[in-house]
Amino acid sequence: MDVGLRGKRALVCAASKGLGRACAMALAREGAAVTITARTAETLEATAADIRAATGVSVTTVAGDITTEAGRAAALAACPDPDILINNAGGPPPGDFRDWDRDIWIKALDANMLTPIFLIRSVVDGMIARKFGRIVNITSGSVKSPIPTLGMSNGARAGLTGFVAGLSRQVARHNVTINNLLPGPFLTDRLRGNAAAAAAEAGKPVDELLAERARSSPAGRVGDPAEFGDACVFLCSANAGFIVGQNLLLDGGAFNATMG
Ligand code: NAP
Repeated sequence: MDVGLRGKRALVCAASKGLGRACAMALAREGAAVTITARTAETLEATAADIRAATGVSVTTVAGDITTEAGRAAALAACPDPDILINNAGGPPPGDFRDWDRDIWIKALDANMLTPIFLIRSVVDGMIARKFGRIVNITSGSVKSPIPTLGMSNGARAGLTGFVAGLSRQVARHNVTINNLLPGPFLTDRLRGNAAAAAAEAGKPVDELLAERARSSPAGRVGDPAEFGDACVFLCSANAGFIVGQNLLLDGGAFNATMG
């Protein structure tokens, strides 16, 4: 199926590794020119080379922190009129909310709520004028089912989700859609890092902990980032213009409910 993305321009934030990288790779496979960002130039360039080799499309890199004004300005200078915006950044650390002061909270809000909102503000009017836009925010399953140790993620991402619920309805008539992808456990560096910390605390090998985690999922495994990229392509496709303000959970069935 031609998903109508050939020649489109995609800005994919935080995309040298993990879920962002998978989204960039999947969009590039459909013929979109991608601009990818991350803080570490070396990994970013290696990923860009991988995407070029796998797809032959144009890949632009912007090394910088997307949660800062300078980082966002650099990304937008490299890709000023994206047809597709994938919002992503690192997740906030776990902990006890008693230990989090105002500065720590502001950092989480900057990364997981305000950065996507400011990027949307920068690109949405161009999308409206061109009558095509696809915005996907990578949030978390924690928006639906809060994770006790990840209070900042639960809160900041829920704030973004509420904002997007309203805005998506204001722009949909211009063929601009805004939706959220909610990852459950996907095998990325972040998941491996979190699992290593939990394994050390529980005094067991990290592989054992990951295997237990996989067994406890209805799907019997953790997610493959490539599957996440494919879902991203689906939401960005030309055919998906009637999917507005949705929260698509990719968790192998872990969230137990009769309806989403
Ligand atoms: P990952 O494997 O650690 O990859 C994170 C990517 O983002 C890297 O390319 C990293 O590169 C880049 N990045 C991080 N902070 C950045 C910043 N401030 N500016 C620019 N780039 C930045 O993480 P992931 O598993 O793909 O997770 C992506 C998002 O999904 C996170 O918010 C995470 O909390 C959320 N999530 C993931 C899972 C999961 O199971 N994987 C589940 C729920 C939610 P640099 O470090 O070089 O900048």
